[in-house]
Order: sequence, then C-alpha cells, then structure tokens
Amino acid sequence: MSAAQGAPTNAELFLRAEAAIPGGVNSPVRAFRSVGGTPRFLVSARGPYVTDAEGREYVDLVAGWGPAILGHADPRVVEAVTDAAARGLSFGSSTPAETELAELVEARIAPVDKLRLVSTGTEATMSAIRLARGFTGRDLLVKFSGHYHGHSDGLLAEAGSGLATFALPGSAGVPAGIAALTLVVPYNDLDALRAVFAEHGDRIAAVITEAAAANMGVVRPEPGFNRALVELAHAHGALVISDEVLTGFRVSAAGWWGLEAATDDAYTPDLMTFGKVIGGGMPVAALGGRAEIMDQLAPNGPVYQAGTLSGNPVAVAAGIATLRAADAAVYERLDAVAATISTAVSDALSAEGVAHRVQHAGNLFSFVFGDPGEVRDYATVLRQESWRYSPLFHAMLDAGVSLPPSVFEAWFVTAAHDDSAIARVLDALPGAARAAASA
Ligand code: PMP
Repeated sequence: MSAAQGAPTNAELFLRAEAAIPGGVNSPVRAFRSVGGTPRFLVSARGPYVTDAEGREYVDLVAGWGPAILGHADPRVVEAVTDAAARGLSFGSSTPAETELAELVEARIAPVDKLRLVSTGTEATMSAIRLARGFTGRDLLVKFSGHYHGHSDGLLAEAGSGLATFALPGSAGVPAGIAALTLVVPYNDLDALRAVFAEHGDRIAAVITEAAAANMGVVRPEPGFNRALVELAHAHGALVISDEVLTGFRVSAAGWWGLEAATDDAYTPDLMTFGKVIGGGMPVAALGGRAEIMDQLAPNGPVYQAGTLSGNPVAVAAGIATLRAADAAVYERLDAVAATISTAVSDALSAEGVAHRVQHAGNLFSFVFGDPGEVRDYATVLRQESWRYSPLFHAMLDAGVSLPPSVFEAWFVTAAHDDSAIARVLDALPGAARAAASA
C-alpha cells in the first residue's frame, strides 16, 4: 500500500514528535532504541492488523502490549465503550459497572475476595506494596531480578552482582534510601530466597513476583516455585503479591494462577495485581486479594489509596465487554495461534542454523538466541546473542509484521489472528531467519 497523498511519513512524524515529546515517545520502548530505525506511527487497528501513518498495514504481534486478546477494535468492545461514552465520560462517583467488573474477577480467581480498581499496572503494584507494608507493619520488599512491576521508585531497583543484595537505584531520581528497602533475588532460586528470609525475615513485608515472568522475555516459574515461595513467605509472616498485570486474563480466563490452580502446585497469593486485559485496551488495572488485607485500604482502613479516574465508566465498560467476550473458544484460539507462530519461528531459525530456545508461558512466548544454557533467570537471558533480534525484527517489519521492538519482550497474539494473518507471518519468516543468521 502506498502512502496517502501528502500524508507525513513515519520519519517526518518522528522528527516532529522528538521536538515536542522527550525521545518522541510516551513510553521508552516505543522509540526503537534497542532495534534501531524509525518507529511506526500508528493511526488505526482492526482485528490482527495495525496501520501506520503511511498507510502500511502490519500483522500485529504486540497487541497493545497485551490487552487486545480479542483483536483490535472488537465490535462488542467498541459498542460497549461507545454506549458508555454517550452516558458521560467520568463521574468521580460510584457506578454499578465497577461492582460488576469486581464480581467478574472474584468469580474467576479464588484468592481475590475484594478488588480495588486503579488506572495503570504501576499504580496497582505500588498500592499493593503499600498495603502489604501497612498490613504487616514491616518495610522490606523482595523482588526478583528481571521482573518488571511498573515504574514506581521502589520497584525500579536492579540487583548488584551478588546473590541477593540490597538494591541500587535502577533509575536516576530514585533515592538510594528507597531502593535500599528492596531486596533483589535471582528468579527461580529458592535457596537465595531462603537465605534472604533467614537474614531479614522479620523485616520483610512482601515478596512481589510476576506470576510467570514475561518482561525479560518469557521465563516461566519452575514447577512448584510459586507454591514454595508462598509457603516460605508465610512461614516468616510475609505476604506474597502475585503480579498478573501481563498474564491475568491472557494465559487463561483465570490467568497464570488459574493454570497452576489445576495442578499439584496450586498456590494462594495474598494480593494480586491486574492490568492490560482487565481494561480491554483502556486504562483499567486493579489490586485484589484477601478481604482482611483489602479492608486495610481507605476508607475502611489506614492505608491510603485513591484516584480521580479510578473505575472510569468508559474504561470499565471496555474491561467488562472484553472479559465477557473471552470465552473458552478465545483461549483455545490464543493457544493455537501462539503454538503455530512460535513453532514456525523456531523452524525457520533452525533451517538457517540459528541456535535459539523457545520460551513459553501459556500463550506468551519469546526467543532466546544462541545457547546460554537452561533459561531460568535474568543472568541467563542476558548471556544470549541479543544482536540477532534487530535484523530479524526489521526483516519482519519490512515484510509487514510488527514484533515487539526488543528481544526482552514477550510476543502477543490475539484470537483474531486468522489463517490469512498467520500466513503473512509464515511467509515473512524465512527471510527474517536469514537476516538473523547473518547478523
Ligand atoms: N507489572 C507487569 C507484570 C507488567 O508487565 C507491567 C507493564 N508491562 C506493569 C506491571 C506496569 O503496568 P503499566 O505499564 O500499566 O503501569
């Protein structure tokens, strides 16, 4: 497809954006810094496709970073949003729909007795941590290296090189005193976690963990890891916050918790956080958990938390419509599309002799290049041949397939990826694998 007559190019739009917006973007990964080249400026999206300002259409494997499980602009969601918008954009007051969304989540996810809606995943984890501290009367937080929980101060903490260290700030502007309240432990390492509890157990308010890690590429918890970490935390009077902002309502109707609930490794976190799919592409996120803990939130309890746009009626309408539309057939389709695409990518890489590993957590997947060994933590992920991703990414983009612009991100499918969208991906793969091989 050619650019509309006189329409600005992506490059022109990026120049203009860079003058008006830091880095030209409102969230850093969008700037293509890790893959190079010019970001695409999107103007519309439908089903499995997105269209840029030059009129080029791409098969989308980003899905808005997760929310679009039904595909973009699903008519049921658009209708719900349009109807809600016509009744008023924001009331700053209670609505019946907020309770409906909370009840939908509580019916699916047993550890959630009560739910509080917020607008972003960052707010959800930040508030869950304050709540855990308020409930336990303790200050320290344990997180795993390579896990992302949003950009609040205490969570932008990177480990030093030690096994388990008090964190150094992972961003300028984070006071060292705040970062020092976060302990960072290698993922999937119960011995390291035990050591941290042995040393600091009576000061630890909570362990926060991605239910299955998907922000360093996909690294699933080893069997029994989530269960063991809950047992260990509880033995020391600490809480577990299971962050399902990314996995929630995507890998199953009850998220990652639901996948493990059906096994011997079932676990019960104290608090859970949600985002992305729960808002169907609109700004909704949430924290939920045991009633006794959730009732510590204001106005019932002493832990303050609030939001002008929390439970926004238009956003909540999108979330309800998405969760209601996501039936068993949707999850079957997501799993099937993920299996087809991840297998095809792997086959194409193998055909070109590119060593790699396919990383899966339900229908989330990503690739690790080279052979850094079994991938169970961040240190291993960092040892991969990450330079192979950029040429693969750009070959796919040139062929009309939009991948996440970093090797450290999961690939996201939608239930709207039909056979013709998948065929476009498969057609692009041999050339992209050749590009990765010659990098
Ligand atoms: N937690 C997890 C697991 C996430 O993946 C993200 C976002 N990718 C967040 C928290 C932060 O959510 P938001 O970007 O909505 O603030």
